[in-house]
Amino acid sequence: MKARQLAQLWPAKQVSDGAGVKIRRSIGLQPQWRLDPFLMLDCFGSDEAADYIAGFPPHPHRGFETVTYMLDGHMLHEDHLGNQGHLKSGGVQWMTAGRGIIHSEMPQQESGLMRGFQLWLNLPAAEKMQDPAYLDLDPAQIPLAVIPQGLIKVIAGTLQSPADAKSPILPETTGPIRAASTQPLYLDLQLHSAADLTLAVPAGHNALIYPYEGEAWLGTHRVPLHHAGVLSDGDSVQLRTEGPARIIVLAGKPLQEPVVQYGPFVMNSVAEIEQAIQDYQQGRLTEGAAKVLQI
Ligand code: FE
Repeated sequence: MKARQLAQLWPAKQVSDGAGVKIRRSIGLQPQWRLDPFLMLDCFGSDEAADYIAGFPPHPHRGFETVTYMLDGHMLHEDHLGNQGHLKSGGVQWMTAGRGIIHSEMPQQESGLMRGFQLWLNLPAAEKMQDPAYLDLDPAQIPLAVIPQGLIKVIAGTLQSPADAKSPILPETTGPIRAASTQPLYLDLQLHSAADLTLAVPAGHNALIYPYEGEAWLGTHRVPLHHAGVLSDGDSVQLRTEGPARIIVLAGKPLQEPVVQYGPFVMNSVAEIEQAIQDYQQGRLTEGAAKVLQI
């Protein structure tokens, strides 16, 4: 067992996106802060309506996937084909933009807490121009592993202890998302008390942890609230908290392909980006049908 260590600490910075929604961006804040295959990680969270009420009016995407995980609140997702999805507390929308989608994400509440994450997950060159697709997951479709210190939601990948673990064995649990090229692991650790957990994370995959309540420790290194703690390579992560905390754990298989990004288009070359802009301007970005997937 080779435990991953804290390699880098990337503090989230408050930025505005959409029509003025306040978000905290860690991964993707700068191009050198991408963590292949992850392009961006935004945490939105406010009980001030002014911070979120304007939402994300219609905008395009091409070449990657967006994963929206709602912790609190209600957003309506609509696309150019009229597909609708309600994102509610505890639910996840996994959207494969593929060759093109134009969508909006608008709050369905005028007060109260709105909180969640949006992750941008890259697609390999061979999959960037596929038909767009959605997977809307209700909270009940996301497995929960119960541990003495709380709950672990398994959105993607498999929660398990390393094969040679000496500490308490975690209940092996597999999430509903399958993305063969990037093999994402997406966990939400909801801990009500101090914990010391050792999770298996495939060697060679890039990985990070992100505390959004409380803080976490990796050995003697602290990962403060709203920081992405990027991990060195290894096949496990030993993560400790000194009290209640909520922590996102992400890992994925790097694509090792060139990334050229222009706003909401993420391709492999400048020529492909120019093509995406031209297709968008000429109304050809969204030719083709979207698939609404079921699990
Ligand atoms: Fe979007």
